[in-house]
Amino acid sequence: MIRLFSQLCKFFKQISFENEITAFNKYVGSVNVEALVCPICGAKHALSPFASYKRHLVTYDSNTAQDNIIIISRYICSSCKRTHALLPSVIVPYMSFSFKFTLYLIHDYLVHKYHSVEVMCEHYGIAISTFYRILQKFKEHKQTWLGLLKDKLISNLSFIQQILNSSFDEIEDFIIQFLKRSGSSFFQGTS
Ligand SMILES: [Zn+2]
Repeated sequence: MIRLFSQLCKFFKQISFENEITAFNKYVGSVNVEALVCPICGAKHALSPFASYKRHLVTYDSNTAQDNIIIISRYICSSCKRTHALLPSVIVPYMSFSFKFTLYLIHDYLVHKYHSVEVMCEHYGIAISTFYRILQKFKEHKQTWLGLLKDKLISNLSFIQQILNSSFDEIEDFIIQFLKRSGSSFFQGTS
């Protein structure tokens, strides 16, 4: 798996995070293949397009959950012959919900936007048990990011609001820093 970050894209400044599918397509479409490094053997300039596969990505736009089909590209390394899926930073590995979907879900839960967790999960089209797994992962990763002391001082809601109010660049930087620190993506490990 290759995590794709915007330094590796030619036009990332033009990417808006408003619509994640548009962001995803622009991202993948502008990848600078020459700049990719094989995550297994470290070879440079060795990756070329190999195949692609489809997967679901549920996003949250205009207060509705939307099921999308996205195309993930695989690249092959001419040096070690291994293939790697290219995942933009906005995609959480092994999770079918988008980053923004997950943020809004937790936000709506914390502000009690719906009468009950059941009603909220119905609106989002998500199983209640899945929601609680995501919530648990959020709390866990928030603590990993902030440390024990700051985690107690900063509420779940202000933390989520801070992320929601960030620009695409800031969100991506957060995802990269979290990945470096913990070895996994924020929200990864909920499925
Ligand atoms: Zn390789």
